[in-house]
Parts: sequence; structure tokens; C-alpha cells
Amino acid sequence: MAQFKETVLEIDLNALAHNYTYLTSKLHNGIKTMAVVKAFGYGSESTAIAKELERLGVHYFAVAYVKEGIALRDAGVTAPILVLHPQPINFEALIDRCLEPSIYSIRILSHFIEVARSKNQKAYPVHLKFNTGLNRLGFRGSETETVLAKLKHTKALKISSVFSHLVASEDANEKEFTLRQIESFRTISENIQKELPYDFFLHQSNTSGVLNYPQAQFDMVRVGIGLYGFGNSDIENKNLKPVATLKSVISQIHIVRKGESVGYNRGFIAKNPSRTATIPIGHADGISRAYGKGVGWVTIHGQKAPIVGNVCMDMLMVNVTNIDCAEGDQVIVFGTNPTAQQLSEAVGSIPYELLTAISQRIKRVVCRK
Ligand SMILES: *Cc1c(COP(=O)(O)O)cnc(C)c1O
Repeated sequence: MAQFKETVLEIDLNALAHNYTYLTSKLHNGIKTMAVVKAFGYGSESTAIAKELERLGVHYFAVAYVKEGIALRDAGVTAPILVLHPQPINFEALIDRCLEPSIYSIRILSHFIEVARSKNQKAYPVHLKFNTGLNRLGFRGSETETVLAKLKHTKALKISSVFSHLVASEDANEKEFTLRQIESFRTISENIQKELPYDFFLHQSNTSGVLNYPQAQFDMVRVGIGLYGFGNSDIENKNLKPVATLKSVISQIHIVRKGESVGYNRGFIAKNPSRTATIPIGHADGISRAYGKGVGWVTIHGQKAPIVGNVCMDMLMVNVTNIDCAEGDQVIVFGTNPTAQQLSEAVGSIPYELLTAISQRIKRVVCRK
């Protein structure tokens, strides 16, 4: 295993390829994949990830914001890119870089038509987002007529796809709700197809949708977390490989006497003589204070070293009283042991949050293991 003398986030492109192959093996023939690479590729390294996925044959990318799409274009990504949550202020930049907007409200539709017209666009590809239960972004099915009426008056736009997003595809207890969402999306898209003189494609599933609802693949699926190695269940996590490994190093070891404290606000008081290791990663790097006081841990030589006291901005201290280790030794914050799943669970969170929280201050090292 590669050793580093500072904190790095290692990005394994072979793990990515493994996950891509696994997820696409779940798809019916001819179903396309949209790789979701928002938030720096779930905190990893969006350019390297996107380039590798392009090489593997991914059809589409999705990002949340225009800025993220521009970064991919600047890096030479040529595949179509859907921007899931664009703001009108960035519509010109979006068109200049051939990014494709999600159109999620009448307000957004009107703004986009205006900007597309002013830039003399013809049949600019857009994606209509429908709200089938998440109540986050999207038109209601009942707005379909209004949307289509507005579209009839312009040649500037062309509907490339119609899509929706599942609320609880990872939750077996919400199966009935999910099935209703799928049906509702089917009805909405059929109504639109009846009115439009051309074809468009459909997509609704995220990673857990792919894993749990083969009937919801439509024409394309949008996979995010699965590509990065997490399947929202213990069983699926075994079939996937974590792409990111957060590694660090022991900066200093302290011998702490009984009764002494460690860290700010004396968050840890030694009940017995102890040994602590200081690690160069803190809450400014995405390891929140919630992991302090023994809730979170790191792995040193395969052994669990609990965080002692409060996590500082740039460092944290762990208990290594029973671990044979020295200054300069490698530390695993997450990877395969613990996984981002296990670590995030300790604070009642999810890998999505832990992975995307890892600050841009930490160096990304792309490799193939
Ligand atoms: C983030 C996102 C996805 C990807 O979801 P995963 O659970 O990470 O696969 C898909 N669609 C939309 C609209 C999203 O916002």
C-alpha cells in the first residue's frame, strides 16, 4: 500500500472501473448511464473520475451547478453534461459551454427561453424535471400542459429528456411509495410523449434505484454513490469497492500522564497513563467535531485508534496506548477499514456526507490499485 508523508485522498480508478462494471451489469440491454460527478465527484476528483468514465463508455454526466460543468469542459470532457440545479444568472455561461440544463419550474423555463433566444439558439437540449414526491425540484404533473404550451411557442429549446428523482429507493419499507413514484413518472412522461412531435429519453433511477428497482431503468440511469463504492446496503457494499482512501500520518506521539488532559477544552482526561498520536487532519478538512470524544476512530497498523478529546481545525488526536506505532507511521481515516460507511454511521451520517465534506485542502492522488 502506498505510503504518504502527509494527508492525502487516494483515488483508485480501478475501483471506479469495477463499480461501473458492476452497476452496468444490472442494466437491461441498451440502457444508458449518466455518471453523477457533482461536488468534485462526491469529494474525490471529478476530472480524473470523468475522464476514466468517458473511457469506460459512460454516455452522460451530471453535475449540480454550472460551475462544476465548466470545470469538466475546461478539463476536456466532451460528453453531454446535465446541470441538475442551474440558476438563471449562469444560463449564458451554461450555453457557452454546451451544458444542458434541468428545467424544473415555470420561472426557470421562462428565463431559459429568454436567454436561449437572445443567444440565437435553435433546439437547445434541455431536460424537464418532474416532482413525483421528493418536493425538492421539479414541475408537478399538473403543470404539464402549461409547460408544453410554453414550449410550443419557441424553437429555441428541444426536450432532450424528461426525468424525476426517487425519494427512498434504498428503503425497503418505502417500496409502495417508490412503486407509486415510478408509476406517476410513467404517466407524466406518456402524457408528454403524446403531445410532442419528437422523441426524448427518460430517467428516474439513482444508484439504489438501479440496485432495487429494475423496472425503473427507463432509457437511462443516473448513478452517483455506487460509482464511488457504496450501495446503501451492507450486501451491495460488498459488491462495490471504495474509490477514495483517506490516508494520513502520525505527526507526533505524546505520553500523557494520569489526570492530564488532551486537546481544547480538556475534552479528554487520561484516567490512566496513555499514549496519543497527533494526526494532521481536522474539522477544516471535513472530519467534523462530532467524531471527537471517542465517537470516531482511525486505523493504524490495522488497529482501531479512537479520537480523543475534541477534533481541532487542522488536527486531531487519537489514543494509541495499545498500538505499537511511531511518528511517521501511516494512518487510515477511511478506505476499506474503516469504510466511509462505518465511520459516518458513528455520527448518524451517511457516506455521501463524509465523502463530499473532505476539503479541497487535502491533496488528491489518483492511482490504480
Ligand atoms: C445526486 C443525484 C443522483 C445520484 O444519486 P446516488 O444516490 O448518488 O446514485 C441522481 N439524480 C439526482 C437528481 C441527484 O441529485
